[in-house]
Amino acid sequence: MNATSLNASVDAASLNGDRRARELAELRSPEVDSVDVLVIGGGVTGAGVALDAASRGLRTVLVEKHDLGFGTSRWSSKLVHGGLRYLASGAVGIARESAVERDILLRRTAPHLVQPLPQVVPLLPGTSFAGAALVRAGFLAGDVLRVSAGTPSALLPRSRRLRPAEVLRYAPTVEAAGLRGGLVFWDGQLVDDARLVVALARTAAKHGARVLTRCAALEADGSGARLRDELTGESFRLAARTVINATGVWAGELAPGLTLRPSRGTHLVLPQSAFGGLTAGLTVPVPGETNRFVFALPAPDGRVYVGLTDEAAPGPVPDVPEPADSEIEFLLSTINTALRRPLTRADLLGSFAGLRPLLDDGTGRTADVSRKHAVLTADDGLVTVVGGKLTTYRRMAEDALDAALARAGIQARPCRTRALPLVGAGSPATLAAVPAPLRLVRRYGTEAPAVLAEADGDPAALTPIAPGTETTLAELRFAARHEGALDVDDLLDRRTRIGLSPTDRQQALAAAESVVGG
Ligand SMILES: Cc1cc2nc3c(=O)[nH]c(=O)nc-3n(C[C@H](O)[C@H](O)[C@H](O)COP(=O)(O)OP(=O)(O)OC[C@H]3O[C@@H](n4cnc5c(N)ncnc54)[C@H](O)[C@@H]3O)c2cc1C
Repeated sequence: MNATSLNASVDAASLNGDRRARELAELRSPEVDSVDVLVIGGGVTGAGVALDAASRGLRTVLVEKHDLGFGTSRWSSKLVHGGLRYLASGAVGIARESAVERDILLRRTAPHLVQPLPQVVPLLPGTSFAGAALVRAGFLAGDVLRVSAGTPSALLPRSRRLRPAEVLRYAPTVEAAGLRGGLVFWDGQLVDDARLVVALARTAAKHGARVLTRCAALEADGSGARLRDELTGESFRLAARTVINATGVWAGELAPGLTLRPSRGTHLVLPQSAFGGLTAGLTVPVPGETNRFVFALPAPDGRVYVGLTDEAAPGPVPDVPEPADSEIEFLLSTINTALRRPLTRADLLGSFAGLRPLLDDGTGRTADVSRKHAVLTADDGLVTVVGGKLTTYRRMAEDALDAALARAGIQARPCRTRALPLVGAGSPATLAAVPAPLRLVRRYGTEAPAVLAEADGDPAALTPIAPGTETTLAELRFAARHEGALDVDDLLDRRTRIGLSPTDRQQALAAAESVVGG
């Protein structure tokens, strides 16, 4: 792509304060009396619905109370699962759906944002032979799923047994004494979950959707919603032919009668130095459980995320959930069962927690509640889509939109998102030829040269803004000009994930303020 066509393509997908103000004014003007589809909630699900609707040629509006990716979508493990976990609990349909959606993300829609990740289970003295055989059987079933979804082994290699030396090459701090080797299988990993949401929203904007952050739905039904501009406090009603509630764990606030059963999942953030340069997901069985693991995942900015808990979180839903002390202890003690030197709280850079938007199905533990998504239509026509997971956002969006269009009697083209590349996507050959550092190509794909251009000839704008991050000023400028970042929180907590370490965040604050003001 030459510079002129790249700029035109980036501009068409641009989200920023000016576009937001213009589009809000258009929606409030008498000329716009109604839109086709109003989507509420700018997480992965809502952004996916907006893209689906806009790409079917429908006049689409997405409103988000805070920022894109503000909710659960930024607190995930950032894995694009092939559904192994669901297979173990007998949910073959969900497992296959995950494997198919993983293939679509890896090969067609977001090959720049999703990379293959080896996941290694070390066989330690505490791992029984029966336990190892169970894991091996699960991995083989995962291979069958991969093949059935059409993902070639050249992209996600077959699972296999590892020699002890291979385990230690992937995970150098694993306890070597008594190590019998390991098992490895391959899955997909996102460079970052919030970046997927932003890419979806920008692709929707490129197809004509109006994407309005800091715009809350105060109430909604099947024919519109009362919206409030969170920057001015002004409210107005927007009429729509159909309305889709994609507000995740907050869905019950707009759809009374819907009972969710939020479950908290916590991760720790550690420096790569604590793991001696981890290059695989280190997967450690939870002692005493057959199908539960704690994993350490290599992450950008020289970090490792250690997760994951599954704790019932009843009561009011907070904007930003907090990890409990007991969860931090559980994660440290479980991962330590595999390590030579035990990690302690002193090693932590930070921690984060998210709430799974699970539907209440009356099951005992939240870990057993179905991860299948649900589309529910209220008597007034409001369609709610909830549950599921990041990996299957596209399928959730398609199901929700199909249901909403059928209910409202709206004629539209069939869904196109299976083969619709997100902004920045390209074939392996195209991505390999992008004239930019690999780190940027993995975050911005074919748009990476436009990020470099934000430096405007100043080499300092292409160097890290602070210790603890590789993020540059050019990236912050791109985020404000094209990715809808309106303030320092958007920049540090969602367009970049510097904020996952409070110390790093503090050090990067001045650079962020220089881009969007304090
Ligand atoms: C700890 C954890 C780890 C996970 N790991 C993985 C993983 O590795 N892979 C995977 O595939 N899935 C994973 N998941 C599941 C996945 O993250 C979620 O299913 C998914 O992110 C939910 O997205 P959503 O868009 O439905 O909800 P959200 O991301 O919560 O989006 C809802 C949005 O609606 C907005 N909103 C709320 N009320 C209003 C209103 N009145 N008006 C306007 N906007 C409103 C919120 O601000 C929010 O941004 C994980 C989940 C958790 C909790």
